[in-house]
Amino acid sequence: MAAGSAIQIPTRLPLLLTHESVLLPGSTMRTSVDSPRNMQLVRSRLLKGTSLRSTIIGVIPNTSDPTSDCDDLPNLHRIGTAALAVQVVGSNWPKPHYTLLVTGLCRFQILQLLKEKPYPVAEVQQLDRLEQFTNGHKSEEELGELSEQFYKYAVQLVEMLDMSVPAVAKLRRLLDNLPREALPDILTSIIRTTNQEKLQILDAVRLEERFKMTIPLLVRQIEGLKLLQKTRKSKQDDDKRVVAIRPNRRISHGSITEDEEEEEDHDDVVMLEKKIRTSSMSEQALKVCLKEIKRLKKMPQSMPEYALTRNYLELMVELPWNKSTKDRLEIRAARIVLDNDHYAMEKLKKRVLEYLAVRQLKNNLKGPILCFVGPPGVGKTSVGRSIAKTLGREFHRIALGGVCDQSDIRGHRRTYVGSMPGRIINGLKTVGVNNPVFLLDEVDKLAKSLQGDPAAALLEVLDPEQNHSFTDHYLNVAFDLSQVLFIATANTTATIPPALLDRMEVIQVPGYTQEEKIEIAHRHLIPKQLELHGLTPQQIQIPQVTTLGIITRYTREAGVRALDRKLGAICRAVAVKVAEGQHKEAKPDRAELGEGEDCKEHITEDAKPESISDTADLALPPEMPILIDFHALKDILGPPMYDMEVSERLNQPGVAIGLAWTPLGGEIMFVEASRMDGEGQLTLTGQLGDVMKESAHLAISWLRSNAKRYRLTNASGSFDLLDNTDIHLHFPAGAVTKDGPSAGVTIVTCLASLFSGRLVCSDVAMTGEITLRGLVLPVGGIKDKVLAAHRAGLKRIILPQRNEKDLEEIAAPVRQELSFVLASCLDEVLNAAFDGGFAVKASLEHLNSKL
Ligand code: ADP
Repeated sequence: MAAGSAIQIPTRLPLLLTHESVLLPGSTMRTSVDSPRNMQLVRSRLLKGTSLRSTIIGVIPNTSDPTSDCDDLPNLHRIGTAALAVQVVGSNWPKPHYTLLVTGLCRFQILQLLKEKPYPVAEVQQLDRLEQFTNGHKSEEELGELSEQFYKYAVQLVEMLDMSVPAVAKLRRLLDNLPREALPDILTSIIRTTNQEKLQILDAVRLEERFKMTIPLLVRQIEGLKLLQKTRKSKQDDDKRVVAIRPNRRISHGSITEDEEEEEDHDDVVMLEKKIRTSSMSEQALKVCLKEIKRLKKMPQSMPEYALTRNYLELMVELPWNKSTKDRLEIRAARIVLDNDHYAMEKLKKRVLEYLAVRQLKNNLKGPILCFVGPPGVGKTSVGRSIAKTLGREFHRIALGGVCDQSDIRGHRRTYVGSMPGRIINGLKTVGVNNPVFLLDEVDKLAKSLQGDPAAALLEVLDPEQNHSFTDHYLNVAFDLSQVLFIATANTTATIPPALLDRMEVIQVPGYTQEEKIEIAHRHLIPKQLELHGLTPQQIQIPQVTTLGIITRYTREAGVRALDRKLGAICRAVAVKVAEGQHKEAKPDRAELGEGEDCKEHITEDAKPESISDTADLALPPEMPILIDFHALKDILGPPMYDMEVSERLNQPGVAIGLAWTPLGGEIMFVEASRMDGEGQLTLTGQLGDVMKESAHLAISWLRSNAKRYRLTNASGSFDLLDNTDIHLHFPAGAVTKDGPSAGVTIVTCLASLFSGRLVCSDVAMTGEITLRGLVLPVGGIKDKVLAAHRAGLKRIILPQRNEKDLEEIAAPVRQELSFVLASCLDEVLNAAFDGGFAVKASLEHLNSKL
C-alpha cells in the first residue's frame, strides 16, 4: 500500500485500454492507439493537458480487441498500471492513429468507474509504493531469502549476455542500484514472456507472490540461453571449418566474384570496414564510422541494433562525400537547350541565363536561390530539369507538398527502430554525387505540426552560410551541401514562410495564352506523346484547329498539364486503332488538308464524316494518318466540358463578370445580385473573406450615396436603395473560398445593373479595388486575369488606370484581340460596362448623400 512519504498518483485516472500488450511498472512500452476511446484520450487529455499530472494515465491490459470497439465498454481488468505518457507521435497512414510511449509507474486497482465517454475515467487506489529512487536505497521488506535468491538468478541471467553491449552493462548496474522490489516487474518485461504471464505478474499484488512467480520465469530464460550458447558454440566450430576450407576454394576458383564474397557475413563486415577506410568521407565521419564498426563486430547479429548500425554504415559509405560531376557550363549552349526544351517564357529564360552567366563568371555557388512561382503545368519543374541538363549535373526533385515533420528534412535520430535520413541526404544517396540540382517542389505547401516546423529545417539547408555543415539527425555528422544547386517552385508566394522567402529570388511564371499553348502542344507535347505511345506522325495527325478545340472546350487552365493529358488520351485511342490495324480509310482530301481555317471550315461542313470510332473495315494503306477532327475529339474525349456560357448568364440585370486571381491562374467570376422586400439587410454568400465582405459594404455605400445622381431606385421607386429592401450578393462557385479587394468594381457594376434594371455588356470583365469616394485602385495578378478573360472569349476588360504598366507583359496577339478600358474612378467603370454608357443624369450639386 502507498506509504505516507511516497509519491501518490492521482485518485482519478483516465484509462487507456490496451489489447495486445501488458505494461508493468518500471518498464517502457510503445503502443499504437487507434480505437475511438483511446484516440479521444490522447487528443483531449495528452495533447491538450499542460501539467505533468495530465500526462499520468492508467493502462488497463487485456481488453477485448479494439477493432470490435463498440459503444459499450468491455469488461475491464481490475488491476492496471499507472503510467507516464512520455511521447505522442501522430500519423495518418494507413489510418489515423497515435503511437504512445508510456513508462509504467505503479499498480493500481479500479475502485469505481466514474465515466465511460468519451474515454473511461476511474477512481483508483494505488497498490505499489512509488518512491523517488535515492542512491543506495535498499529494500526494507522482510523478504530476505526470497529476494536474495531472485537477485542471484537475475545476476546470472544478465551475466550470460554480452557485457560489451551498453544496454546490458547498464542493466547489470541497475540490478544493484534499484530497490529489490522493483526488479520482478522490470525483469519480467525484459525476458521472453507471454502476455498471459505478464498479466499474472501484474495481478500479483503481494511482493512475495511476485518474487515467487518470477523466479521460474528467470530460470526458464537461463536454461534457454544455456541451450542457445551450446548450439551456437557447435555452429561456430562448424563456421571455423568452413572458413578453413574457403581459402582453398578461393585459390582453386581464382576469380570468385565480389557478390559471392558478400554473402558471407563476417567477410561482409570486414569489407565494410575496408570500404569505410578507403572512402573519402570527412575526418569526423570516419571517426564515427570506425567506432561504430568496432561495436558492430562485437554485437550478436540477432540484436536489432546490429541491422541498424549496419544500415547506417552502409549509407555512410554510399554517400557522395567527395564525388561530383564536372560542370560544363557554356552560356550559348545553355540558351540553346532552354530554347529547344521550352517555347515562350522569355522572361524566365532570360533570368535563368543571367543566373547561369554569373555562375560561370564567379565560379561559386553562393547566390540567391531561384524560386519559380506560377500556376501548375507552366513548366517550372521542367525548366529546373533543363538547368541541370545545361550544367551537366544530376537532377533530383524533392516534393515538399504536405511535409509537416521536420524529420522529413533533417532525418530521424538513430534511437528509433525504422529511423532514416531526411530527404536531402536520401536525395544525395540516390544521385550519387554531391553537386546535383535539387528541385524543392511546392515550397508553398509546407505544413506545420507537432513534429516541428519543416520550413525552419529548410532554412538551414538553403542558407549558404550554414549549409556547408548541414547535420542530418540520422547521420549525426556534418555533410557539406554547399555544392548543391537548389531551385524552388511554388504556386503562390503568399503561403511561403517569410524567412524562407527572404532567402529566395522569386521569378513569376505566368500562364500561357491560347496561341502559346498551341505552339507548345505542336512543338513539344504532341511529339512527346507520340513517342510515349509508339506512334509516328504518319499514323496520326492533329491539326492546330483541333488543338485549339481541346484548349478552349476541354481544358480551362493556365498551364498545359490538362492539355497534355488530353493529348495522351487521344494518342491512346489512336494506338488501339493502329494496333488493331483497322481504321477507316480517310478521304484523301481530308488527310491532306493543311492546318488552320480551311480545315475548320471543311470539318464543319462535313455533317458526319468518318471518325475513328467508325469501325467499317477497309483495308488500309499503313501510311494514311488518322486525322483527329472534332468528331474524333468528341468520340475520344466525350462531349465538350466548357462551352461559351458567358453571354447566357448575362441575360438579366444584376450579373457582372469579375476577374479573380488564384494560385492556379486567373479565373473569370460571375457576381450575381438580387433584391427583395426586407429591412435593408445585405446577405453575402459564396465563402467570402473579410476583405471581400468589406468591398461589398463599400460598394453599397457608394451606390446609396450616388443613387440620385444615377437615378438608381429600389423597387418602390425610392432613392434610398435599402429602404424596405434586402440585397443578396452571391459569388459562385460557392464552395471555393474567395478573398481580396479586387472584386470591388464588379460588385458596384453588378448592383448598378440591379438597381437600374439595365444589362451589363456580355463581353466585359473587370477588376479593381474601390474606395468610398469612388476611386479605383490598382490590383495584382493582371496578366493571369487578362489571360483568363481571353480564354473565356471576353472582349473588353476594365482595369484600374494605375495597372496600365502591367499590360506590357501581355503578349501582343492577346492584346490585339482585347480592348482595355483604364479607369481611375467608378464613373468610368460604369460608363464602360454598360452599352451606351451609364450617363450621369443629375449635376453634382444636387447630390444628396445618405451616408
Ligand atoms: P509545373 O512544374 O509548373 O507544374 P511542369 O514542369 O511539370 O509544370 O510542366 C508540365 C508539362 O508541360 C511538362 O511536360 C512540360 O514539359 C510541359 N511544358 C510546360 N511549359 C512548357 C513550355 N513552355 N514548353 C514546352 N513544354 C512545356
